[in-house]
Amino acid sequence: MIPRIEYYRFGTLNEALRFLRNNPDSKIIAGGTDLIIQLRSKKVEARKILDISRVSELRYVREESEYVKIGALTTIEELKNSGVIKVYAQPLWRAVNNFAVWQVRNTATIGGNICNASPAADTVPPLIVLEAKLKLQNIERVREVKVEEFFKGPGETIIEKDEILTEVVIPKKDSSWRYSFIKLGKRHSHILSIVSVAAGLKIDDNKIEDIIIALGSVAPTPVRAKSVEEYLRKRQATSKLIEEASGEVVKDIKPISDVRASAEYRIEMSKVLVRRALNECLKAYSHGIKSG
Ligand SMILES: Cc1cc2nc3c(=O)[nH]c(=O)nc-3n(C[C@H](O)[C@H](O)[C@H](O)COP(=O)(O)OP(=O)(O)OC[C@H]3O[C@@H](n4cnc5c(N)ncnc54)[C@H](O)[C@@H]3O)c2cc1C
Repeated sequence: MIPRIEYYRFGTLNEALRFLRNNPDSKIIAGGTDLIIQLRSKKVEARKILDISRVSELRYVREESEYVKIGALTTIEELKNSGVIKVYAQPLWRAVNNFAVWQVRNTATIGGNICNASPAADTVPPLIVLEAKLKLQNIERVREVKVEEFFKGPGETIIEKDEILTEVVIPKKDSSWRYSFIKLGKRHSHILSIVSVAAGLKIDDNKIEDIIIALGSVAPTPVRAKSVEEYLRKRQATSKLIEEASGEVVKDIKPISDVRASAEYRIEMSKVLVRRALNECLKAYSHGIKSG
């Protein structure tokens, strides 16, 4: 049973932001696929709900010359069906193809997936690897933060009480990057991840020029595998080196045991999945597959 709650809904961003400024104790609801469950289980309490699901100006995928911009209310299903996301945000596209069932994808928004701040949020490691930024807006101003700086802990972010996440900004990176995303769950799909890994690799003349790796479900927040990145950067790209480097991921993660898996299993699978993700990127080079 959800306790008695005041419900407010507006059709424009301006009205929603004004309401939020005057009612900072409100809880935002978008698709509600996380929040309704949390309210029912009393994990989250709210006296006032601000429904932003009808703010249609926040629902788009826009390709610009240097960026791809995604409105926060864009659904996971819309991302899955977007040719722009498939071309310019490969790891994100792979993540949304492995995300829940159609009914959930049709309601769940990218903004909700990010702001819910679950360590298992599937869109987040890909967005970190793509070096995406988030636009946080209140009634007076907009600020931009890097995705990897947004999270403080499970369910906790740096968003202020009067702010709405309005847009995800993904820079169009040079087409020599190769990406991969792997999600391990108890089933192949339609399930929360036990470990997820997104990787991006840029190779020039067989040397790793640049590299970004991010993992989900293995720490209180999604994390960068900086030790693996440092181990590999500016070195010759071989499978043997990648095998050695993957072991370094234990320095970057802090998994817990929960209903989905033990901490020990997550540690072992993080090594395996980092290796597989990087090998997939390498393979994409040898097969001449471009990311964008
Ligand atoms: C059956 C099922 C399967 C699922 N499978 C997956 C899966 O495979 N992978 C996965 O990652 N997740 C999965 N989820 C979780 C969930 O669907 C996603 O996290 C979803 O993207 C949340 O979006 P929403 O719009 O429903 O968020 P809501 O539930 O509306 O909101 C979630 C949180 O974000 C806040 N919020 C929402 N939008 C904004 C905004 N624009 N600005 C500021 N705050 C905001 C809300 O206040 C709330 O705290 C699953 C859920 C269910 C029920």
